[in-house]
Amino acid sequence: MIHKFKQNGMYILLDVNSGGVHIIDELTYDLLDYVSDPPAEECPQAAIEALSGKYPAADLRECYAELYSLYKDKILFSEDDYEKYALSAVASPVKAMCLLIAQDCNLRCEYCFAGKGDYGKGRTLMDFETGKKAIDFLIQKSANRRNLELDFFGGEPLMNFNVVKQIVEYAREQEKLHDKNFRFTITTNGTLLSDDKIEFINKEMYNVVLSVDGRKCVNDRMRKRVDGKGSYDLFMPKFKKLVEKRGDKEYYVRGTYTKYNMDFTEDILSLYDEGFDQISIEPVMADPNEPYALTAADLPRIFEEYEKLSDKIKEIRANGKFINFFHFMLDLDQGPCAIKRLRGCGCGNEYVAISPDGDIYPCHQFVGIDEYKMGSLNDGTFDTEMKMDFARAHVYSKPECRKCWAKFYCSGGCNANNYIYAGDIHNAYKLSCDIEKKRLECAIALKAEKLLDTAE
Ligand code: SF4
Ligand code: SF4
Ligand code: SF4
Repeated sequence: MIHKFKQNGMYILLDVNSGGVHIIDELTYDLLDYVSDPPAEECPQAAIEALSGKYPAADLRECYAELYSLYKDKILFSEDDYEKYALSAVASPVKAMCLLIAQDCNLRCEYCFAGKGDYGKGRTLMDFETGKKAIDFLIQKSANRRNLELDFFGGEPLMNFNVVKQIVEYAREQEKLHDKNFRFTITTNGTLLSDDKIEFINKEMYNVVLSVDGRKCVNDRMRKRVDGKGSYDLFMPKFKKLVEKRGDKEYYVRGTYTKYNMDFTEDILSLYDEGFDQISIEPVMADPNEPYALTAADLPRIFEEYEKLSDKIKEIRANGKFINFFHFMLDLDQGPCAIKRLRGCGCGNEYVAISPDGDIYPCHQFVGIDEYKMGSLNDGTFDTEMKMDFARAHVYSKPECRKCWAKFYCSGGCNANNYIYAGDIHNAYKLSCDIEKKRLECAIALKAEKLLDTAE
């Protein structure tokens, strides 16, 4: 399988199965419309007839011969030899967990997937006993995996910070006893940060996710306090302090763009100007009836914006500065490992979420969906059949993904969004796919340009 596209003035060809990226000329680009997969030995007559007004027939034949020899050398139209990994993809140990430390929040963001913090299940906080059980569960289910990830999530986890601290202390004790290594992450809206909390977070948390949508006006339109006022001025000085004191430890600012800010490059630049260089801004996934929801009609505008963003990022880097936009990060050298490329986030299999009352779900976005409750820490139940179903949900089990050029980068999309917006974890959610594919094209083009620059 191949995928060709035009971006940043280049004609780019991706050989999907090998991951090879080629910069091609316009003739090759046009000719590829007539090349079958796998290619026939002779240049198709239809290509000569259609293109000989634009290019000499001899050039077309010569180009075709080159393409055919690349195919014979397994460089183009290479075979897919990943499916065997997917078929052997059995359930793995659980190695990551999301703790809904607070099923409550002090903000009321319009687009909140978590029912403005309560997941539609009532406002409540996790107690330390449940947190301990969660740590014990993770240690037990992780088998011989040493490195374990634990995300403190909400709602707003800082509403229950004492329990966060207790759980960290307990996990640190347990990791010595069981030869494990915990890596903690906390996701916060930042409004309740204090100097003490910043110090603790910067000491103990391997990563920090700071939620902000970009420009103050954009953020405050969606990310509101309980009294309806905007939250930006409340958290921004605290975020800056946290990042300043964090040194070179990992963090990123994470935002959401909606129909109201399809010019989200400005939000990314605003965050950059505030001093953040690790940035993620994602499209809102919402009921299409919501006024802020993105729809298929918005795609041309969104695509244009990703191209603009890609130009801006190039400009920043050309000036010797650093910026990392998460969705343009790409490993063209076939990383990460095969199984991760086929199955993505690992939800419901390697990763689970725990609600404050000890219920187990495939991930935070499934919390509160009764049919996806996997068990409970209180009665020791854990649905291993459901775990296997998630282990078997990979790019070859999803009909749209199987034939999609982006499958090894996208890894089959978000199971939760697939379920919520397309009815089944195996159904691709088209709006999200179209955006993902555009981001990938931008990322591939940026990377290809960089490689070209290095080669010159
Ligand atoms: S801060 Fe997060 S949990 Fe709270 S309302 Fe906003 S999106 Fe929801
Ligand atoms: S989720 Fe969509 S973009 Fe991703 S691999 Fe599947 S079809 Fe392709
Ligand atoms: S299913 Fe979606 S929301 Fe859940 S962990 Fe995976 S990518 Fe994230």
